[in-house]
Amino acid sequence: MGKHLILVGGGHAHMTSLVNINQVTARGHKATLVSPSPYHYYSGMGPGMLGGFYDPTQARFHVRKVAEERGAEYIQDTAIRINPFNKTILLKSGRSISYDVASFNTGSEVQMAPLVSSTDTVIPVKPVLNLYKARVSLLREIKNRPLEIIVIGGGPAGVEIAANLWRLLSNEPHQATITLVAGSELLRHTPQRVRVLALRSLLKKNIRVLTGVRAEHVENGSITLSNSSCINYDFAFIATGIKPSALFSDSSLPTGADGGMLVNSFLQSTKYPELFGGGDCISFKGSPLAKVGVYAVRQNPVLFHNLVAMLEETPLLSFEPGPPYMLILNMGDTRGILWKWSLTVNGKLSFLLKDFIDRRFMKKFQVSGELDEPSLVKLLE
Ligand SMILES: Cc1cc2nc3c(=O)[nH]c(=O)nc-3n(C[C@H](O)[C@H](O)[C@H](O)COP(=O)(O)OP(=O)(O)OC[C@H]3O[C@@H](n4cnc5c(N)ncnc54)[C@H](O)[C@@H]3O)c2cc1C
Repeated sequence: MGKHLILVGGGHAHMTSLVNINQVTARGHKATLVSPSPYHYYSGMGPGMLGGFYDPTQARFHVRKVAEERGAEYIQDTAIRINPFNKTILLKSGRSISYDVASFNTGSEVQMAPLVSSTDTVIPVKPVLNLYKARVSLLREIKNRPLEIIVIGGGPAGVEIAANLWRLLSNEPHQATITLVAGSELLRHTPQRVRVLALRSLLKKNIRVLTGVRAEHVENGSITLSNSSCINYDFAFIATGIKPSALFSDSSLPTGADGGMLVNSFLQSTKYPELFGGGDCISFKGSPLAKVGVYAVRQNPVLFHNLVAMLEETPLLSFEPGPPYMLILNMGDTRGILWKWSLTVNGKLSFLLKDFIDRRFMKKFQVSGELDEPSLVKLLE
């Protein structure tokens, strides 16, 4: 008799499973996707969406259509609890669904508390669609007045956001002052040369970069810094790092130190063999992986194989994290900063390579006419 596979979250690690979900239904199983939105936005293109390199239609997957066109059921909802004893998932709407096998790709969230007290004009950098909504608001506001914009967080996301804000606002009638509050150091987990290149690029764009200070409190248009000074903002972007979705700790499942579902090399819960996961929401036992999309993308084929294998009771495959990954920063001026091992490449070629890789990834999984859909511009303005 057929079994029931539930995919929770249509994120980057579930793309192969979604595109091939007909292989599950063709074997007589039932498949369901639970997602809070019919669309999933690709984070790698998020800063470029803010800066205007990409229209949202170019940066999103219509996960609802992908699932339904291949015979799966789509439920627009959010999972809030997993009960591994009676194999059910409770949804925010109050509905409970039963699974034989379930896979989680629920990603991560920007932690707002205790830093942020008021949320007006404060923009967490995830969900990625926030960046496009911010673009629309900023372009509207700067028509009328100069703007003070603060980006909090000196990691890759904060740097790309600051650089793309410059691209967005540098030719508008009023001036935008952009400040990046970087914490102890800009890009502290990257090689020295990357830090120098990024700082030089930001300063050239008249972006103020504060290092050695942290934001302590964000409330009502004012940010208190760790040196007790205050800076005012019209818009503040929060890029202070991410935390895996709280679903697993809320459900008392085994989690890693970061709160992600603890999984073995098969991307399978260490305690409940019918639960799997990928991307930012898992904690890989033994060697936790960086929360970067690269790993979510690499996990795709193994996750899909193992979900089918679990349904069909055939052998599982191990996920090998693979070689160190390459990252490329989109610096907003059609230049990129690339690094891998000790190699650093700065300039237009790096940006073109990032653009090529991102578009190739999108093309592979935009299989439901996403590019033919009307642009979001009209919906949000
Ligand atoms: C601005 C920015 C730029 C970045 N650029 C890069 C980059 O260039 N390269 C790189 O490798 N990494 C990049 N990252 C990191 C990258 O965002 C993450 O590693 C990546 O998003 C992880 O993918 P994911 O599918 O696990 O999670 P997510 O992208 O967070 O997707 C999770 C999905 O699950 C859904 N969901 C969440 N909770 C539930 C629930 N309870 N029930 C059902 N569905 C749920 C969400 O709606 C979402 O669709 C960037 C991050 C940011 C913030």
